[in-house]
Amino acid sequence: MLRDADIAMYRAKAAGKACYQTFDRTMHEQANSRLQMEIEMRRGIESGEFIVYYQPIVNLETDRIIGFESLVRWNHPERGVVSPVEFIPLAEETGLIVPLGLRILRESCRQMREWQSLTSSLSELTISVNLSCKQFSQPDLVEQVAGVLAKTNLDPRCLKLEITESHVMENSQAAVAMMNRLVSLGVELSVELSLDDFGTGYSSMSYLHRLPANFLKIDRSFVSRMIENDENYNIVHTIIRLAQNLKMKVIAEGIETAEQLSQLKKLGCDCGQGYLLSKPLTAEAAGALLDSREGSPYWQAFNPAGNNAVTKCKVEVSYISDLNP
Ligand code: C2E
Ligand code: MG
Ligand code: MG
Repeated sequence: MLRDADIAMYRAKAAGKACYQTFDRTMHEQANSRLQMEIEMRRGIESGEFIVYYQPIVNLETDRIIGFESLVRWNHPERGVVSPVEFIPLAEETGLIVPLGLRILRESCRQMREWQSLTSSLSELTISVNLSCKQFSQPDLVEQVAGVLAKTNLDPRCLKLEITESHVMENSQAAVAMMNRLVSLGVELSVELSLDDFGTGYSSMSYLHRLPANFLKIDRSFVSRMIENDENYNIVHTIIRLAQNLKMKVIAEGIETAEQLSQLKKLGCDCGQGYLLSKPLTAEAAGALLDSREGSPYWQAFNPAGNNAVTKCKVEVSYISDLNP
């Protein structure tokens, strides 16, 4: 009875605290499957089942790749490739995101350094790594990032840390202090705005000028709805103007259609990523994309030469997707 009451109490806390929940058997089953998943995650971290995929980020003026966002996947021995949407929330809740996030950061920086060492023309390429709320509030985060940069020998300017705006706003003063410490390492900071958080709670664009970030990321929730009506289009327009006034560069996420791409280009959005340009790729496929040898199948994909760069992207990317089940 105590065990079951405890499960119901945690459910009530998760539902926003000032409420009650009555225990039923499905709660016990769910608690069991979460515990099972936590055990499997611990084992998976140790045995290297978590792998990093890389999604190209493209300069919308030149159509060239300027970097990648690293996105984790769980290569589960029985379930196959598991999406981060399924395991990141539990990893955050259990604190496992801290060791997992450190591994992702280390691997992403190591991989970027390896790509950069192929040719000097790639020395400006950046790697964007997502930081969860829990990681962001770790007191030794700055030391961890500095340690990874030193170990992998990556230029700090090539590392971009992505933080969600709603997380920053929950504890704005401490967050700004942490961001300033990260900036002092020389890394870039990108703050992501999501329509789901927009205008709720602490989330407010009026705080943006206080943040020492030089990139603003527009989440897919905005981009996917911008064609629907004028109101959504105007919101994206306003965000891009605001970012420009604050001297921040804008990255739009989740570009799926040629129409979205051309609207974003018209609005002066600096960079973009999305399935239209490329899905997240394995390290091997992403590396092949960077192969700048003329005649390589990937060379023209993001080459600005020619007026139909986007058409070329589509053709080449469908080819790459074949490599990426
Ligand atoms: P996010 O940081 O907003 O990442 C973008 C998500 O949108 C990725 O999903 C990406 O695959 C997906 N995406 C990109 N372009 C398109 C598109 O054109 N259409 C559609 N439908 N989706 C697109 P993914 O990889 O499933 O990651 C989901 C979320 O999980 C990420 O959202 C991020 O919040 C979290 N996440 C992923 N990797 C990591 C990580 O290494 N650490 C942490 N802390 N969180 C991560
Ligand atoms: Mg991200
Ligand atoms: Mg997003």
